[in-house]
Amino acid sequence: MKLQVSLLQASLRTRFALGLAAVLLPFLVAAAVGQFYLLPRLIEPLDDIVRELTEEMEPVTRLQMALFQAAVPVYDYLVHADVDKHRQFAQRRQRVERAFQEASPERFVLAEERALIGSARAEWDQALLLGERLLRLPDPVGNAAAARDMERFDAHIDRAVAALDAAHDQFHRVIGHNRAQAGAARSRALWVTFAAFMLAAAASLLAGVALARSVTDPVDALRQGAARLAEGKLSHRVAIRRHDEMGELAAAFNAMAGRLEANQVMLVELATRDGLTGLYNHRTFYTLLADELARAQRFERPLSFLMLDIDHFKRVNDTYGHLAGDTVLKELGELLCREARAVDRVCRYGGEEITVILPETGPDAADRFAERLRVAVEAQVFCADSEPIRMTVSIGVASWPAHADGAEALVAAADAAMYAAKQGGRNRVVRYEPALGQPGAQG
Ligand code: GH3
Ligand code: MG
Ligand code: MG
Repeated sequence: MKLQVSLLQASLRTRFALGLAAVLLPFLVAAAVGQFYLLPRLIEPLDDIVRELTEEMEPVTRLQMALFQAAVPVYDYLVHADVDKHRQFAQRRQRVERAFQEASPERFVLAEERALIGSARAEWDQALLLGERLLRLPDPVGNAAAARDMERFDAHIDRAVAALDAAHDQFHRVIGHNRAQAGAARSRALWVTFAAFMLAAAASLLAGVALARSVTDPVDALRQGAARLAEGKLSHRVAIRRHDEMGELAAAFNAMAGRLEANQVMLVELATRDGLTGLYNHRTFYTLLADELARAQRFERPLSFLMLDIDHFKRVNDTYGHLAGDTVLKELGELLCREARAVDRVCRYGGEEITVILPETGPDAADRFAERLRVAVEAQVFCADSEPIRMTVSIGVASWPAHADGAEALVAAADAAMYAAKQGGRNRVVRYEPALGQPGAQG
């Protein structure tokens, strides 16, 4: 229970590592069983066979001994003429016969071995004939013919023993060859088993790691993506191009991030733009003016500012209705944006008052631009699709650093100039000058 709880708290990586260890454990158990249980049981029977085969050769060894011993009484008889050697030879001859029975050729697998045993038998038969003849001699001592027979007897015994030696050698060669083959086959089998085992273990390991990574990698990417989103980086997307569940999860995540980003853009639009004209709203206007003025002051570049008010706009509303008035405001905003440069900022200050921030623009250039606007407005037919409306604007111009030292003073100066334009008969541009006084007093 405790283990289950701590497993649930473990990271995905830890869980996969434990799973992998569980996959590899059977391989380790199989290796241990093979090494300490199966292998000895495979080798033991082979050793048993070799032992049994070696035992098979024991009668041959005994036969050799018996042949040597059988020769001794015959030799002794020739030296001492002791008749007791007859009995001794008879006993030892029987021992040889028994040994030949024990080492009968049928017991041997190889034809060469059988032939060698047969040849030892033939030599013994010859030696036996000679031995019996020698033992029958009444005066063997100093008998030259007997000595010759004895030599032949010895030669037969030697050849019989040599044939048995050859059988031995043959046997050992075969056993040695078979043993070497079995050993080679065994080590081959061991290596093949070991290699197969290692391959299987490596394949399991690779498959396990690949499986684990196929899950942990996308999970990591999603985790990082979620962290970025939480930091507010809504443009971040997760790059997982797969067609499985992880791919679907990533696609859903990206779609969600996309919607959040679009909503954020929309919210920013709503917060910064005016709903009717699409121009920057009053609040944003002050932010933009502060930024542009700070930049102008930092780089000591001129900045101008226009305050524009529609002349007798109340009449437009009264004559054509508020909807038409709205359309006029909208179309005026479009006209101003068309005329302005990309760096200029056109804002709806409030009601039918519009401001334009002109970076990198001195008083003269600002005057010219304001005049161009005035003329353009005068020439424009508003609400052309329904009720054509013509109208004019009055524009006040103020510049930094010529007319004001801060944002508020600049707005006030432009306002005062605009007021002066109204006073001067409307449909005109007035540049601020100190003689116009404090605009707050006129407002
Ligand atoms: P002048 O500026 O030349 O002195 O005259 P005016 O008639 O424009 O005078 P004033 O500035 O006092 O009036 C502004 C009018 O603009 C009043 C208001 O009804 C109208 N107005 C302000 N905002 C809107 C708007 O969003 N839509 C419409 N249709 N009218 C608006
Ligand atoms: Mg007004
Ligand atoms: Mg007005």
